[in-house]
Amino acid sequence: MPEINLKYSNKEIIDNFFENLTCDEYQESIFKGGQSYADHALNNLDINGYAKKRNNVYPSEKRGSSYLSPYIRHGLLGLKEVWDYVENFDYQDRNKFRDELLWQEFSRHLYAIIGRKNKEFLNFYIKNDPGEIVQNQKMNCISTIENELESTGYMVNQTRMWYSSHQMFRTSNQWQESEDYMYKHLVDGSRFANRLGWHWVMGSQTGKIYGFSKFQVKKRAPKICNECQLQNECPIEDWPKVMSISNKDIEIDLNIENNFGPQTILTSNEKPHYVWINGESLGDEDPALSHFSELPVIFIFDKGLLKNLNLSTKRINFLLDTLKEINEKRELTVYLDNPENVLMKKKYASTFAPVPKYKKITKNAKPTVEFPAKRLIAPINFYPRSFSAWRKKTKMAL
Ligand SMILES: Cc1cc2nc3c(=O)[nH]c(=O)nc-3n(C[C@H](O)[C@H](O)[C@H](O)COP(=O)(O)OP(=O)(O)OC[C@H]3O[C@@H](n4cnc5c(N)ncnc54)[C@H](O)[C@@H]3O)c2cc1C
Repeated sequence: MPEINLKYSNKEIIDNFFENLTCDEYQESIFKGGQSYADHALNNLDINGYAKKRNNVYPSEKRGSSYLSPYIRHGLLGLKEVWDYVENFDYQDRNKFRDELLWQEFSRHLYAIIGRKNKEFLNFYIKNDPGEIVQNQKMNCISTIENELESTGYMVNQTRMWYSSHQMFRTSNQWQESEDYMYKHLVDGSRFANRLGWHWVMGSQTGKIYGFSKFQVKKRAPKICNECQLQNECPIEDWPKVMSISNKDIEIDLNIENNFGPQTILTSNEKPHYVWINGESLGDEDPALSHFSELPVIFIFDKGLLKNLNLSTKRINFLLDTLKEINEKRELTVYLDNPENVLMKKKYASTFAPVPKYKKITKNAKPTVEFPAKRLIAPINFYPRSFSAWRKKTKMAL
């Protein structure tokens, strides 16, 4: 089993182990991985003015975004922890910010229920209008967004909406290709939040589309328009038109245990010898990791999966930083292999992750002890057709 020795630099590890598994040459993002960096980001979180500033794009100093997303996505910060942290901020800012944390939880719930079916349209088929297609490399808004994504590993929510709307309604690409591109480069990229964002923009969940035009750029990032070669012949002067929107059915299993995993700790007669952690939950407060604080830890980069995903080295760097910090506190072995093979003969403890890959791995290589996933909202046994429908019927899992 190929083991990765964490005493080497990230560059040496990436060059030696990740050749042909990533989409770019060695690159660092603007985020450092690791619990201490996540804690630092949370302890310095200031959401004063968030409600007003959240949608600002450029200049970047005017943004209200927290930049917490990579830490939340990889479980270094729990949604509940972040929720509690903002308790003493102004009502408006706190509410708006907590609403966004709920969107994150909603995306996880939806993914727990529909899994890989989120690769297709959800409740509506949407067809773009071929007459709308614009493939102009000179558009400063689109190239600025792509440059920021590729060089930093981050996008604010507004530019994610602009970009996905443009790709969906004004290019001939399949939306999944452009979603993949974003997913690869975002350090917070997840199939739950990224695809939910795309569905929201495309109108595939609610039937209402989000259009992108010069209007938003002028309002949120005027400099981009002012410096654009096409400012007097802007190809996105108007809102995009859509060819058709039609209903679609989706088949869903609503069994809570199948979708959300155990609700209490599952034990067996045997004692675990290891704790297995994965990219969904890398924080010190991971239930399995903190409960078995004396056991050695295993992390497995899934070679087959990486070959398919072709993630950016920005993400691999973030993960390596995080693992190196764990390695300073615990005995940790890192493999680049097939997780099922590594875990098959091991007695290990883990925390359930409501994602298809975790379910697949643990179907055959069963954990000896399994902890429920940490969550903000209690598991659901209905299919939510929108965020508001979900919010009305859910309760906090406090
Ligand atoms: C097309 C598209 C793709 C997206 N892809 C991802 C993705 O891959 N991973 C990801 O974590 N988020 C994704 N989002 C949601 C959102 O854009 C990012 O979470 C947010 O921009 C991250 O920056 P931040 O931490 O500074 O956000 P803040 O505005 O500071 O928000 C705080 C936290 O709330 C959560 N959050 C905020 N907005 C949303 C939202 N709309 N949906 C879900 N969670 C939200 C995130 O965990 C975020 O860190 C996507 C949105 C769209 C429209």
